[in-house]
Amino acid sequence: MSKIAFIGLGNMGGPMALNLHKAGHAVAAFDLSAAACQKLAGEGVRIAASADAAVDGAEIVISMLPASQHVEALFLGGDGREGLLAHIAAGTLVIDSSTIAAATSRKVAKAAAGRGIAMIDAPVSGGTGGAIAGTLTFMVGGEAADLERARPVLEKMGANIFHAGGAGAGQTAKICNNMLLGVLMIGTSEALALGVANGLDPKVLSEIMRRSSGGNWALEKYNPMPGVMDAAPASKGYAGGFGTDLMLKDLGLAQENATAVKAATPLGGMARNLYAAHSLAGHGGLDFSSILRLVQGKGG
Ligand code: NAD
Repeated sequence: MSKIAFIGLGNMGGPMALNLHKAGHAVAAFDLSAAACQKLAGEGVRIAASADAAVDGAEIVISMLPASQHVEALFLGGDGREGLLAHIAAGTLVIDSSTIAAATSRKVAKAAAGRGIAMIDAPVSGGTGGAIAGTLTFMVGGEAADLERARPVLEKMGANIFHAGGAGAGQTAKICNNMLLGVLMIGTSEALALGVANGLDPKVLSEIMRRSSGGNWALEKYNPMPGVMDAAPASKGYAGGFGTDLMLKDLGLAQENATAVKAATPLGGMARNLYAAHSLAGHGGLDFSSILRLVQGKGG
């Protein structure tokens, strides 16, 4: 049993923290959102009064925040405010599972190392379903020894754990994966919309493509067409899940990265623009599979 501080209890962090609690770890959780805290408190998880209070006495600190700026502000502080690193004891292991820029990950890991705090980046894949079921895939960047220290805890939240390389490498693997996912979701939406426009039943068409060469994760687990999959966000008004604005952030990170290394990512660039248009039309808070609406001309 470890003493774990968990910061960020949103769509992903909430169920991840709950799985650690259920596994018998002593979890002290915190989120800026009172609603997110209350939800977890209702499940018996101890809520700390602040992030500083959560890390008091913790052996492991896990963060699951939206974007680079949140992770940097939390750990490094700014505007005259002290960062959380100042409150974390030397020898503690920090695991950041947020999807952020690899450069930010490396910057925070370096600052942590300067205080004798080990840090790995461990972004995840698998969606909210994977977070709830404890079957996430972790893509880890950092020292192999630190990953081994984290492994027993990661295993309570995930089914697959990969060591991608040094600090920041987990983030690079994650944006490659999400660029592919963003493109696949648009392609899947186009194919379904085309079939439906021709009078096909989306359930039948989905099953045909799932078992054919067009099969992919969206068709397996996350169908964008309402009514095809009861558990998918599409069947719940595109609520919860993985927000369009979070996908837009990841596609932006991929484009920044591609620019830096002079990689050609034409479909990734187009996907970013389509999610940006969808967000500008007011749908940034909906699950990213709602891009189907844009494809169907119902996005306004
Ligand atoms: P979310 O917006 O649902 O949750 C983020 C939480 O962080 C919010 O509750 C917010 O209040 C909290 N927060 C922000 N700043 C904070 C701070 N300083 N201190 C404490 N709490 C703070 O986001 P999510 O869907 O849980 O995603 C989290 C990360 O995981 C993102 O980087 C996202 O890209 C990534 N991710 C999400 C999914 C998914 O399916 N939702 C899948 C894989 C990866």
